[in-house]
Amino acid sequence: MHQNNSKPKLPFSAILLDMDGVLFHGMNPIEGAIDFMLSIEYIPHVFVTNNPIRLPKSMADKMAEIGFKRPAEELIITSGEATAAWLAQQKPNFSFFAIGAGGLHQSLQKYGYEDKEKADYVIVGEGEGLDYASLTTGINLIIKQGAQLISTNPDTSVDAFYRGKRAILPGAGALVAPFITATGKQPVTIGKPKPLLYEIALQELQAQASDCLMIGDRPDTDIAGAQQLGIQTALVRTGRFAPGEKLPDNMPAPDWDVDNLMQLKHLLALI
Ligand SMILES: [Mg+2]
Repeated sequence: MHQNNSKPKLPFSAILLDMDGVLFHGMNPIEGAIDFMLSIEYIPHVFVTNNPIRLPKSMADKMAEIGFKRPAEELIITSGEATAAWLAQQKPNFSFFAIGAGGLHQSLQKYGYEDKEKADYVIVGEGEGLDYASLTTGINLIIKQGAQLISTNPDTSVDAFYRGKRAILPGAGALVAPFITATGKQPVTIGKPKPLLYEIALQELQAQASDCLMIGDRPDTDIAGAQQLGIQTALVRTGRFAPGEKLPDNMPAPDWDVDNLMQLKHLLALI
């Protein structure tokens, strides 16, 4: 008997997904994304985002609100969560001084404790909090006490909403710059395209890099960072780049280059 309903074996056994520009834009799901997520339900997967501002719970709530099946919170790895998990591996019960949004502080408090007088780490993430006083506290901790400078992600700017309006906001890469200038120290940076966020995600998946597929909309971060670790890559043109748009010459070529998740689903013959 000829069986024609057998699926070809996928060249990967686990999937990492960027969120913004892949699954949704703000509060709007991208066409086909909800269906795609249902079709990979049986494949181990995690979500990886450079955004350290929102907690996994709030990201999961948002996905449910806009029509996705609510993902388990531990599958959502923000750069804030990855920073906290990585620091806990370096030094269990670490002390920190953090500058950035509330979500970052809450992520860090799961593994460490805040101590402005004697912090092991000065951590800079996105969101409000940088001012003359916090910069002064941070650089004194680094210069006088040897605290290590940490940046949640290298983005120089991010498109987001600020006080109800769409705006370009400073990324952690910009917010950490005055600390670098004042101290002469370079930070350890966690988010994409650096490897540490991906390494925390691979630990969560308990998978080898070469057995994984990363799906993202940015060649310079999502694709470049994953390729460096040997993760297979798929670029979707629903975010940073539009279908047919030429990629800049200096950017790495993904293994799959598709217009959207629907096309990727067909290409991979996912049911
Ligand atoms: Mg994105």
